[in-house]
Amino acid sequence: MKGKPYMDSILNYIDGEFREPYESLYLDNYEPATGTIYGLIPDSDASDVASAVVAAKGAFPSWSRLSNDERCSWLEKIADGIENRIDEFAAAESRDNGKPLHLAKTVDIPRAISNFRFFARAITQWSSESHQMVDVGINYTLRQPIGVVGCISPWNLPLYLLTWKIAPALATGNTVIAKPSEVTPYTAFLLSLVCKDIGLPNGVLNLVHGTGPKVGESMTLHQEIKALSFTGGSATGKRIAAVAAPMFKKLSLELGGKNPNIIFADCNYEKMLATTVRSSFSNQGQICLCGSRIFVERPIYEKFKHDFSERVNRLAVGDPLEASSKIGAVVSLPHMQKVLSYIELAKSEGGRVISGGEQVKLTGRCENGWFIQPTVIEGLDYSCRTNQEEIFGPVVTIMPFDIEEEVLAYANSTTYGLAATLWTENLSRAHRMAEALEFGIVWINCWMVRDLRTPFGGVKSSGVGREGGVEVLRFFTEAKNVCISY
Ligand code: NAD
Repeated sequence: MKGKPYMDSILNYIDGEFREPYESLYLDNYEPATGTIYGLIPDSDASDVASAVVAAKGAFPSWSRLSNDERCSWLEKIADGIENRIDEFAAAESRDNGKPLHLAKTVDIPRAISNFRFFARAITQWSSESHQMVDVGINYTLRQPIGVVGCISPWNLPLYLLTWKIAPALATGNTVIAKPSEVTPYTAFLLSLVCKDIGLPNGVLNLVHGTGPKVGESMTLHQEIKALSFTGGSATGKRIAAVAAPMFKKLSLELGGKNPNIIFADCNYEKMLATTVRSSFSNQGQICLCGSRIFVERPIYEKFKHDFSERVNRLAVGDPLEASSKIGAVVSLPHMQKVLSYIELAKSEGGRVISGGEQVKLTGRCENGWFIQPTVIEGLDYSCRTNQEEIFGPVVTIMPFDIEEEVLAYANSTTYGLAATLWTENLSRAHRMAEALEFGIVWINCWMVRDLRTPFGGVKSSGVGREGGVEVLRFFTEAKNVCISY
């Protein structure tokens, strides 16, 4: 549709300017908690991507020739700019996404700030390698920025995931075209306001808003975007890989998951129970790392089932702005319908709903919002569709197991391999299982604990190009081997 007047409509940020999309087309931006439209988003296309590429190419020579200290200082200024407006960012994140405001303020936005600070400092400490060949010469590795790179992110942790890409790309001297999810674009727009405020050189960071098929696909197809860092669903990742591979683009793909949470009877029960409530339902279960398949050793299965469902039933579903709300809205109407359809599928596959299972109708401000009860289902086979496909909402299944080999087979049975959580006080078993679990991340007696220096991401259909600390800096550079003979 053509642009309509709303308070909070946003624009693209290209070459340091706020620009209308080339075709002047806009998409509606919804607030999930109220189900209402509150702004418009540019429905950009290949022409907008093309002008962003021109800007980014133009900015590349001077940006890439800055010293690491100078780029560090720009990244620190961006971090300061977000920090100075943290309340505004958190409110925008909560309004766009439906997540509790408290979560946005204590997790998402602080982590986005940390991303800029971490990579600002990392680049000043980074070194490349040199290898001496005795009596022959020295080989050293030059690590050079790639040029114009693309960053595409999903809606669940909008600013956090986008900045996890933008910060290292800029730190290493690339210029960036970034596309936030069209479902949750507002914090990216606020980021462009920060860049404008601090006077970031024009064209260094460009934010193009719009849909995947138009903006994302144009970025993937653009010859001058030499590398793409993508986080999103596995089907989208597959499409991007199919388009980009024949163009020999460098790709990092962080994709979907179906994460197991394995609980042995010898675990620290209280710690496990409290963490499992969080790891199942934080952000309405819309964190790629949430554990959605809970396997419990049989001796404690009935106790766990009772205690877990009791705690889950106490989680207040409500207006994300209310401090008492533990569960906010799911991100969109289609997503709510998808999650509810999976609950129906689970029932048809023989599942018994032991907590939740229904849409929640609130009153007042949120009467038309998209809310679902936190839902626990038992009685399903590990191989059924509910236990194999990503639901990405507030729905978990629980099932008992008897022995280690059995639960390993259950856990590893999906095509996904993002993250696994394991609860046991048996050290040998913990190490043995960590090795055998086919996942990029294994948490033992914890969840979502992360040192930014470690590689992050999944195996199998959950992604390629795992990134962490040094690896992510490497991803955004081309390595060149120089050999000097004595
Ligand atoms: P999505 O794949 O639908 O969209 C992700 C991004 O890709 C959006 O910006 C979208 O506009 C864009 N896009 C869509 N089609 C495209 C195309 N053809 N070419 C280029 N870009 C395109 O995912 P989503 O629904 O926004 O997010 C949920 C998914 O993200 C879940 O599967 C979740 O597991 C995954 N995720 C993974 C991680 C991780 O680290 N592995 C983190 C968060 C979310």
